[in-house]
Amino acid sequence: MASLLTHAIAAGALAQAGREEWLKSGKFWVAAVVCSMLPDADVIGMRMGVPYGALCGHRGLTHSLLFAAIVAVIAAGAIGEKAVERWKAGVLLFCITASHGVLDALTNGGLGIAFFSPFDVQRYFFPWRPVEVAPIGLRAFLTVRGARVIWSEMVWLWGPLLAAGTALRWRRKPKSSPPAAD
Ligand SMILES: [Zn+2]
Repeated sequence: MASLLTHAIAAGALAQAGREEWLKSGKFWVAAVVCSMLPDADVIGMRMGVPYGALCGHRGLTHSLLFAAIVAVIAAGAIGEKAVERWKAGVLLFCITASHGVLDALTNGGLGIAFFSPFDVQRYFFPWRPVEVAPIGLRAFLTVRGARVIWSEMVWLWGPLLAAGTALRWRRKPKSSPPAAD
């Protein structure tokens, strides 16, 4: 996995594509951050003995695009009032949830991501994996390895995510209004 902090940063960056009202809503932010981290709920199963490579193992079903779609539909229900708002929020929350697997697929350890589970249980990585895989558990971050992971995520993920978030925000800014007629 990439660290949960980095998944939350991805949520923050992608959320900039959302509507101004959503960005002022606590509900939206809670939904976005939870969506970005939720795929790693599978570590609970791992602790209970579910094998890593199983359908519901770590980086399995909860990292799939189908899971992202289901989570997005549920989370979007809590946001926009009109159907069209819910639909737009759902698309954004799908992208945020799916970004979790995308970031994990850039890491250099563990098994790949079951993007197409349960239809295809094969695990996938990107051909280029510059990000140091994060350890499971908070205590492991207080070690030299943890520091190396954070440094690697800062270089390869935080920078590009910050740039993407800034670009999305800038694109959304209203253009300056035309000069008033005399
Ligand atoms: Zn993960």
